[in-house]
Amino acid sequence: MSMFAAVFDRAAHLRKDLDFLEARLSDPSTLLLPVWREQHLIEAGALVLPEAQSAAELLDAGGELVWLGLLGERSCFVVDISRLTSPLAHPALQRAELVDLRGVVMRLTASDVELACCARALMIWHARAQFCGVCGHATRPRDGGHVRACTNAECKAEHFPRTDPCVLALVTHDDRVLLGRQPGWPRGMYSALAGFVEAGETLEQAVAREVAEEAGVEVDPASLRYAGSQSWPMPASLMIGFHARARHDALRSSDELEDARWVSRAELAERRDDFWVPPPATLAGQLIAAFLAGTAPKERA
Ligand SMILES: [Zn+2]
Repeated sequence: MSMFAAVFDRAAHLRKDLDFLEARLSDPSTLLLPVWREQHLIEAGALVLPEAQSAAELLDAGGELVWLGLLGERSCFVVDISRLTSPLAHPALQRAELVDLRGVVMRLTASDVELACCARALMIWHARAQFCGVCGHATRPRDGGHVRACTNAECKAEHFPRTDPCVLALVTHDDRVLLGRQPGWPRGMYSALAGFVEAGETLEQAVAREVAEEAGVEVDPASLRYAGSQSWPMPASLMIGFHARARHDALRSSDELEDARWVSRAELAERRDDFWVPPPATLAGQLIAAFLAGTAPKERA
C-alpha cells in the first residue's frame, strides 16, 4: 500500500525517446513544474503548472530539466529556475507564493504532494550528482533527466536518483504507544520513533536498533507489521512505517530524543499545546489513527 494513489503516469518507457521528448517542449499542451532553490510555487492552494509555450523564459533560465511524465495526456517537465533572482517577477508566476514543501503538505492535494515530492527529489539529486562518485569526472543527464552518466569514456558509470530508506515504528505495550520528540521540533509535537536504515541492515533490524537506541526498549521482532510508506524528499527519504510491540515498558533516556513516553488512548485523543501528534495526512499520523481505530494489521499467529 502506498500512502498516496498514483496520479500521474511516469511512462518510463518514453524517457529514452529523445524525439518524443524534444517535440514535447514545443507542444502547446506541455506543462512546466518550476522549482526555485528547493522551493515550490503555489497559487490558491495548488501547484503552479504554467504551459511551456507561454513560459519559455523559464526554460531559458538554464537549470536542469526533467521529464516527469504524463498528467493525463499532457507532458510535464520539472524545470530548475534557481538562477532567476526574482522568480515571482515572471508573468506566469506573479500571483504565486514560494513555499517549502514541509510547510504546505497539509494544504496541497495528494496528487500535488506526489508531484512536488518527485520534483523536489529529482532537483536535489541533480544538484548533488554533478560529478561521478566513481572517478570524479563531470556527469551529464540522460533518459529525460532520470539518469546521470559519467562523461569519462573510461568510466561511463550511470548514476540514479537516490532514495534513503528510513523506518518509522509505532511501538505499543499493552494499550499504550511509545512516542518521542526530537530537539528542535515544534513545541509539544510527539511522534513515532524513526531512523535511517544503515548499510547492510534489514528493515526489521533497523526498527529494533532505532527503538533500542532512542528509548532503550526491546521490540519483539515477530510482532513487526508493515503499514505503508511515504515519500519524504528532505532531501531523499522514503519513510517505511511499521507497527511493533515492545517486550517491556522500561524506558531509558538517550541523546537522540529530548523525551520519550508511553501514551494512553485517552491522552492521544486530547489536543493540548504541550502534547500533540502529526495529523493523519502524514504516515506517523496514519499509524496513530490505525492504533486508535483498532485497524492496524494483526500480528501473525
Ligand atoms: Zn566516472
